[in-house]
Order: sequence, then C-alpha cells, then structure tokens
Amino acid sequence: MEQNVQYDLKSLTLQELEEVIEELGEKKFRAKQIYGWIHQKLIQDLDEMVNVPKKLREQLKEKLGFSPIKELERLVSNIDGTSKFIFALQDGSVIESVLMKYKHGNSVCVSSQVGCRMGCRFCASTLDGLSRNLLPSEILDQIYYIQRATKERVSNIVLMGTGEPFDNYENVMRFLDLVTNENGLNLSQRNITISTCGLVPKIKQFADRKMQCNLAISLHSPTDEMRKELMPIAKRYTIDEILEACQYFFEQTGRRITFEYSLVAGVNDKPEHAKILTKRIKNLNCHVNLIPVNPIKERDYKQSNVDSIMEFKAMLERNHINATVRREMGRDIQAACGQLRRKYTKTN
Ligand code: SAH
Repeated sequence: MEQNVQYDLKSLTLQELEEVIEELGEKKFRAKQIYGWIHQKLIQDLDEMVNVPKKLREQLKEKLGFSPIKELERLVSNIDGTSKFIFALQDGSVIESVLMKYKHGNSVCVSSQVGCRMGCRFCASTLDGLSRNLLPSEILDQIYYIQRATKERVSNIVLMGTGEPFDNYENVMRFLDLVTNENGLNLSQRNITISTCGLVPKIKQFADRKMQCNLAISLHSPTDEMRKELMPIAKRYTIDEILEACQYFFEQTGRRITFEYSLVAGVNDKPEHAKILTKRIKNLNCHVNLIPVNPIKERDYKQSNVDSIMEFKAMLERNHINATVRREMGRDIQAACGQLRRKYTKTN
C-alpha cells in the first residue's frame, strides 16, 4: 500500500529532497536550507522560507504539496495541565494528540492512523474501524504544531494515540527517521516509545533496524484465551509468539520491553492472573505498566479497585518484575484513546 504513496514535501528525507531540487535545476544546498525551515524552524507555510527563491517555493508547492494540520480544538486539564489537541487534516479527517508535561520534559502522544482496525474491546479509537494511514508528515505535524504553539521543546514522543503503528509500518519508520534526523528535531531514539498490540512479524522487522527506541507491548492478559476476548489480534498471534519476538527485540537492541496491562475489574485483575503473567515473563528483561482501564461508554468494562491493583503490582514485584501503575492524566478532558475525537467526528 505504502509503495504507491506519493509523499509530500514534509515526508521526504533530506537525500530525496536533494534529488527533487536538482531535478528542478536548482543548487543542492537549497535542500538543506528548506529541510531546516521545515524540520527545525517548523514553518507552517512555505512562504515563510524567506531566503528561498519564490519560484522554487511555488514549484515545490505544486509538485509535492505542503499542507499543515489545522487545530480545531484544544482542551487543557485543570487537574494536571495535560492538553488535548484535535486536528483536522487536509482531507477533513480528524485526529487527536495529547501533550503531557512532566518534570523531565514535554511528552506528546501522537496518532499513527485515522481510526484503527485492531478492534480491541476496551478502546474507543477502533469503534468505527480504520479510515486511513497517516503520512509521515501528518505524524510529524502533530509534534511540530504543538512545539510551535507552546514554544516549548517536545522531548519525548509516545506512539500511543489512535492507530496501530505497526499497521502503518513504512510511514511510521519514515516518521522515526525524520524526527530523529540531526538536521531536524534531532530527538533521541531513547525518548521515543512505540506501542503495539503485538504484530509479531513487524516487531521482528523493527528489531532488525536496531534503533534505540522503547517498545511497549499491549498484552492485557496472561492467557491466549482471555486475550482473545479482549483483543481480536490474539487470534492471529499467540502470547508465546509475542514473547519470542520480544526476546529477539531485546537481543537486537539491548532495550528493555514494557508490557502494558490494562486492568479490567473481574476480567484480568485477579491474583491468579498476576501469577500466570509472572511465570510467563519473568525471564525477559521487562517492565510492566499497569493501567486502570479507562471505561468507555460503549462498553461495560469497569476499573479495578485500588486494592486489586496494588495486590497485582505486589505479586509482580515479589517475583522481581518491575511494575508501575500508570498515573492517569487529563481525565477531565477525555484524554484516553480516541474518546474525544470520536465525540467530535460524530457531532460534525
Ligand atoms: N495500537 C497500539 C497503540 C495505541 S493505544 C497498541 O495497541 O499498543 C495505547 C495503549 O492504551 C494500549 O496499550 C491500549 O491497549 C491502551 N488502551 C486503549 N484503550 C484503553 C482504555 N479504554 N483504557 C485503558 N487502556 C486503553
């Protein structure tokens, strides 16, 4: 699918941009200049590139297109300052991104697709299925826009917004290459986390790139049987296959894996579940992130109570598995996966 995509100006690598510039009969140095305007100065209109000849700007607009995302709405949490941005893309698609402010820096949670086709039962992003993949530029733009709007550097990125990053593999890889490029934002690979529901072949392919990014796996269940109830993708890949891919990822990159485990009351939060989970992952260099499930109105899932959560965590820790409970951010602004975007798209 991606092979046929005609990339826009912002999705091109510096080398590709150089080729375009030379094809247009211009000097190669212009490419670096333009790349800097786009990926460092974060311009939103090509006419801001004041030292680039007008003719070239016009040619680039026509040949490749340059269409920044538009902010439709911004909600700021009164609890913790988390901001949720709702953006419109050029074709009218609506996506969302979340800015979280931590002591160690600003982190942006980006979407990788418009909608999602993975069908996880507890997730609002997938209720209407997948509309389309995001282009590399549309993933970048979520960060560029927020950095420009807040005038504060974005230092961390998590691909945990709407979409399954490995279901849009080529574009997400290109996004990673662009956002970590030294002529662009130059973000450290170690400050980027990709979260996947467990597309095994793609985990291995990603491992082979040997990037220093963090990999988070949405596990949510200790057994295949239970996982199938919560996540349709479990019918395709078993937990054993996922764990084997994780081991491979660790061998290739030396990076510790994070398992995300959303606790749903009465479903996957019992001590026996913690026990099975422990057995299965204890030989992996990993960390477990426990997430109290964020109830969505379309489904009848409830959050586990604090005691069950703490007991679950303690069981893991007793077996020397590092576990944290994710701090809930922006609850008052519906910051969880796809909730607000959906409300927005339904009323518009
Ligand atoms: N598709 C990717 C990334 C998107 S979601 C993935 O599956 O990992 C980021 C995380 O939030 C995933 O672990 C996902 O399972 C979880 N999630 C989605 N909806 C949730 C909800 N309502 N409550 C708690 N966690 C949720």
